[in-house]
Amino acid sequence: MTEPLHTALSAIKELRSSVGQIFESLSGGVRAEHGVEGRDAKYLLELQDLLNAVTMNLRDVEAAINVLTPPAGPFNLGNSSFLSQETTQDRQALYSQLVNSYKWIDKIREHSNLAANLLSHNALKRSYSTNSTKRRRPLTSSHNVLPQQVDQALQAIDRNFNDMTLKIWRPFATNVILHISLSRVLKAAIVFKGLMIEWVIVKGFEEALDDVDDLWTESRHKVFQQVRDHTHSAMLHFYSPTLPELAVRSFMTWIHSYITLFSDPCKKCGLHLHNSLPPTWRDFRTLEPFHVECKH
Ligand SMILES: [Zn+2]
Repeated sequence: MTEPLHTALSAIKELRSSVGQIFESLSGGVRAEHGVEGRDAKYLLELQDLLNAVTMNLRDVEAAINVLTPPAGPFNLGNSSFLSQETTQDRQALYSQLVNSYKWIDKIREHSNLAANLLSHNALKRSYSTNSTKRRRPLTSSHNVLPQQVDQALQAIDRNFNDMTLKIWRPFATNVILHISLSRVLKAAIVFKGLMIEWVIVKGFEEALDDVDDLWTESRHKVFQQVRDHTHSAMLHFYSPTLPELAVRSFMTWIHSYITLFSDPCKKCGLHLHNSLPPTWRDFRTLEPFHVECKH
């Protein structure tokens, strides 16, 4: 439907343009470029050419319009047809806005369909999708674990580290926000959904992190901003829906390695500072320190 309509519209555009040229030529009359000898004849020839072009364009328009099928019956405008009965001047403009919103909604629908298609092929799934056709095992839901189980898992992890303090906090009834103090180096808060890590925020030892609002503001120090970015990569890297406890333990072991954030030199360049920052990256497997620029 849209393709012939498009052709018809561009045919009309061409017709308008060639008609415009005729009027331009007429308003200009005989010009210097027509020369001296036989200039009237030359001018008439020019007009004739332009008129021929108009006839041809008109024929194109007619052909394009004949292909179009008129819509059956009037368009159903729904409640928006009442807008035509609106008497106030400034509300009459609503109709064109409405049409624009419809266009946007159409576009959004189109884009979201594309996005949904792409995402359905994406292997980075964080939780089992309910409409997954090939569910391999019964639903192990790392995000739907009893609070006691979460507490036990976190307390077991806490016992493994002497220089890292974990504090369980439940400001929203069930899900845990875990506060971590890593010696006097940094503080972090981990937002859990069951045993799944949903969000991590890292701050300096003296920065505020006790309030719920502090979870959404980043540290004012570049070094902790970088560490925070890395924790987000780590959160995805260690994530495992089938072995959630192991995933959390691996993440904790990894974040614990930041205890030497300000004392260990970079494994690659051997320096402490690069761009005035210590090595803020820790290898996921070996836990070795690297500058962001040195990690590859
Ligand atoms: Zn380095």
